[in-house]
This record gives sequence, structure tokens and C-alpha cells, in this order.
Amino acid sequence: MVFESLSDKLQSTLQKLTGKGRLSEKDIDAAMREVKLALLEADVNFKVVKDFVKTVKERALGKEVLESLTPGQQVIKIVNEELTRLMGTSEVKIDFSKKPTVIMMCGLQGAGKTTTSGKLANKLKKDGKRPLLVACDIYRPAAIKQLQVVGKSVDTPVFTMGDKISPVDISKAALEHAKKNGNDVVIIDTAGRLHIDEKLMKELQDIHEALEPSEVLLVLDAMTGQDAVNVADKFDDMLKLTGVVLTKLDGDARGGAALSIRSVTDVPIKFIASGEKMDNIEVFHPDRMASRILG
Ligand code: GDP
Repeated sequence: MVFESLSDKLQSTLQKLTGKGRLSEKDIDAAMREVKLALLEADVNFKVVKDFVKTVKERALGKEVLESLTPGQQVIKIVNEELTRLMGTSEVKIDFSKKPTVIMMCGLQGAGKTTTSGKLANKLKKDGKRPLLVACDIYRPAAIKQLQVVGKSVDTPVFTMGDKISPVDISKAALEHAKKNGNDVVIIDTAGRLHIDEKLMKELQDIHEALEPSEVLLVLDAMTGQDAVNVADKFDDMLKLTGVVLTKLDGDARGGAALSIRSVTDVPIKFIASGEKMDNIEVFHPDRMASRILG
């Protein structure tokens, strides 16, 4: 499970502080060195780590710890608060103000776009929405079929026009179809590539221009670590992302992406996915994640 190693290391480091009555600057320094190492090992962006440790240290040497009867506990509280802040403080909700709400799913091939589109439809259905899934990946063999299978498993209609029509035209037709059929959310499963390339980006930008989606969600594989942050940065430049869905948190990803993305790109993580089943998706709560890490 993600964060296992980081979680163990942070907990054992901070535990050492709680045993002490008073904390000297040396104690704090030693702990912060260990925190820094643990974060770097978890593949958190170097600059993010540096800023994080600096902030925690400044606060740990301040009055709130000095004057506390339980200084160790106080330092843990500070680390918890700063971890939460790093990940964005509070949940960022989907904007459903536009009807139908268009959600464009994008990302590199294999990140989990098609699976996540299905999971999202499933989740939104439970919230009382009437989603429509749209097959716009016309290049990957079997992508359309895969979305149809996923759609069927979550009892959600899938709009497809095969692989001979341009994704922009498919998405426009899908929006009309949704309006006629009372679908209040349109989830567009776009094509991915192994690497970001101009042709793909142009296609995504064209869909974006034609549909003016309320949400542009980047599906990111947490296992790709630092690279996930670079990918997010590039997609954000081209498409102005509204959120990230971090997938495969059930694997042994070290968690660096989850902790770096918000700081580096300012794009909030909106959902996390941890498994291949259709209900393995949840709204991302930074505070809950921080508490989970610190045990
Ligand atoms: P796409 O190319 O971006 O559309 O990616 P797919 O949706 O086809 O997913 C690629 C692979 O990742 C599939 O085998 C999925 O079952 C798997 N996958 C997607 N999300 C998760 C997840 O959260 N956890 C795990 N373990 N596997 C996932």
C-alpha cells in the first residue's frame, strides 16, 4: 500500500520526540533531518521537501512547542497540519453548475483513464446523477470495447461512433445526445499516448475548445513517481487542468506524487483510486491522507 514506508519512518522519528519532556533545537534538528530523508525516499519533489522541512522546523522552534506541556505531540500536530496543507488542505469538489456537466478525462496510455471513467460514472450514479460515457479513444485497439464493457458493468450508457470519426465530432455529437436523453454528466474518455506528443495535445485542445468542459481531470498513475508531476505540469500548460485523479495507490507507489503535485502545479487532487474494481475510487481528503500517513 502507498505510503507504507514513509508512514513507518515518520512515525518512528516522531515517536522519539514524544518520549522527551523538553525539546532542544538539537532534538528538532535531528528529527527534521530524518523527516527530510523519509520524504526524499518517498520520492517527494526536492524543493517541496526543502520548503516543508523549513516550515515545520520554524514552527517547531516557536512558542506553540516551547510552551506546550507535550512538545513532542505538538511537533506531530505541526507535521500533520503541514502535510495536509501540502496536499491542498481540503477537498475540492466537482463543479456541477453547468448542465450537462462535461468531464474530460485525459492522461497517458495505461494511466487508468478508461477504468477511472467507469469508476467515476459509477460513483456519480450513486450520487443520483445520470452520466453518459463517451468513447473518444479511437486509436488504441479495443479501447472502445473496453469502455463498453466498463459501462455495462456500472449500468451506464456508452456513446460511440466507432473509430472512423474524429474525436472532436464524436464529443460534439455526444453532448447533443446527452441533452436529448437527459444525461446530466458527460464523461469523455480521451486517447492517451505513451508520451506526451503534439498531435495528441492538439486533439485534446480541440475537444476542449468545442465542449468547454467544466472539469478537465488528468488521470495519473501514482507508480510513476516524480514523472507524474512532470506530466501534470505539461498537461496543465496545454489544457488548464481542474483536477487530478491519482490511480494505483493500492500498488507499492512511494507516494511522492500525491505529496508533490499540489505544490508544484497548484492542481488539486480530486479523487484517488486504489484497485481495479469499479467502486475503488474515493474523493481525496488531504487531512485524512495526512492522518493516515502519521498513523
Ligand atoms: P488507459 O490506457 O489510461 O485507459 O488505462 P486503463 O483504464 O486501460 O488501465 C490500465 C490498467 O491499469 C488496467 O489493467 C487497469 O485495470 C489498471 N488500473 C486502473 N486503475 C487502477 C488502480 O487504481 N489500481 C490498480 N491496481 N490497477 C488499476
